[in-house]
Amino acid sequence: MSGTPELFNRKDFYLCLQCAICTGSCPAARVIEGFNPREYILKYILYGEQEELLKSDMIWCCTTCQICQERCPHGIDISGFLIHIMNLAAERGNLPEEILKEIRLIAETGRSIKSTAHTVRVREELGLKALEQPDTEEIRNILREAGLKGMLDQK
Ligand code: SF4
Ligand code: SF4
Repeated sequence: MSGTPELFNRKDFYLCLQCAICTGSCPAARVIEGFNPREYILKYILYGEQEELLKSDMIWCCTTCQICQERCPHGIDISGFLIHIMNLAAERGNLPEEILKEIRLIAETGRSIKSTAHTVRVREELGLKALEQPDTEEIRNILREAGLKGMLDQK
């Protein structure tokens, strides 16, 4: 369905017991109703229902913390699988608006969180040195190389 190489070993997923330890251990699933890594494995790998998953905003709730695979009885690389799904969705432009805003902020400022006058004052109070200005042109080049050129140009 895509030339993108899989970032996980598909054969490992055929060992999935559907025991749900991954979902039960997942911090995102605890707070976001409907987020369910076990179900995504079932649908994508075992049932082949890929289209619906690639359109879902839910997949972007994974923080890639890897607790799921640490607890999985087979050590299955669930976060690698979810990162792959996010990459495929991004290739199709299926990105939530908040993620797009974050990409543009990184492209413009080199940071994922804006530095404000408050940030500057607090750093001074704590005796921390001033933040250096990142090379945003280099960052934009990296984002373009990562295939995000179209998204950087979108307004
Ligand atoms: S913990 Fe592992 S075996 Fe259990 S459902 Fe999740 S991926 Fe499958
Ligand atoms: S890597 Fe993603 S799916 Fe796994 S526990 Fe963390 S948030 Fe949940």
